[in-house]
Amino acid sequence: MRLLLFGLLALLAACSDAPAPAEIPTRDAETELQIELQESPPPALAGRGDSADWMAIEHAGWPERPAEVLAPVLPDPGPVLAIIIDDVGHAYAQGRRIIDMPVPIALAILPHTQFAQRLAQEAAEAGRTVMLHQPMENGAGLDIGPGGLYSGMPEEEFDRVLRDNLNSFVPIQGLNNHMGSRLTAEREPMDRLMHHLQGRQLFFIDSRTTAATQAAFAAEAAGVRHLSRDQFLDHVREPQAIAAAFEQGLRLARQNGQALLIGHPYPETLDYLERVLPELETREGVQVVGVEELLARKYAR
Ligand SMILES: [Zn+2]
Repeated sequence: MRLLLFGLLALLAACSDAPAPAEIPTRDAETELQIELQESPPPALAGRGDSADWMAIEHAGWPERPAEVLAPVLPDPGPVLAIIIDDVGHAYAQGRRIIDMPVPIALAILPHTQFAQRLAQEAAEAGRTVMLHQPMENGAGLDIGPGGLYSGMPEEEFDRVLRDNLNSFVPIQGLNNHMGSRLTAEREPMDRLMHHLQGRQLFFIDSRTTAATQAAFAAEAAGVRHLSRDQFLDHVREPQAIAAAFEQGLRLARQNGQALLIGHPYPETLDYLERVLPELETREGVQVVGVEELLARKYAR
């Protein structure tokens, strides 16, 4: 008995010599807050201990069953679709319609817009993903609004503008580009952007406004979780074209297992989504999931 105890103590001592876990990177207060929000357990888990105790008592007289019989069988997840609506923040009612859709649609909110904070908060409360829709220089010289990042911007200015945008509303879980056909084609500013996202543990979605985009390569190199748009919903702002684009999204989801669609808060787009999304899974066998879920699937592989 004494020998056994010694053996046990020796084993415990050996375990405590295990290498310390990797150093956790320092985070700023805002990231800390977001992580805290993400990590707080869902209310459904409260009282789990009680129910586990009850189960133990209830099943006490049951015979032991082999472990393999109890192993969960995961169902085939089937094709999934994620949808992001860009250019949110100028109009409250539009943003609220997106939050109120029967499936989780991500809101990509423009910085320094009138309803950015209110919609970000209400979207988060409804369990929707909130993203910063970062304005970036386009090749056509179109106005990109406040908080824009431009080619050739001095580094300090680039950092300040981006930081101001990332601090302009909470929460922010990820970022995608507003326009940016010029800037996303340049590797250096994309590396700079990804450095910020990596530091804050935010994900990146490449809107792919140019085929020459370097953004996904930069994200990959910086260790930032990222996805790229598969299909624009309303490149042509007409009901028939929107329906055709959505059908194409369904086809891509069936073909590749998943697809990422990006649309805009046009009345035509919101009308269409409100009509088609209820019962979509029953009708088409394609489930709409949050962007986070799509990322989780990619990085679980
Ligand atoms: Zn946009």
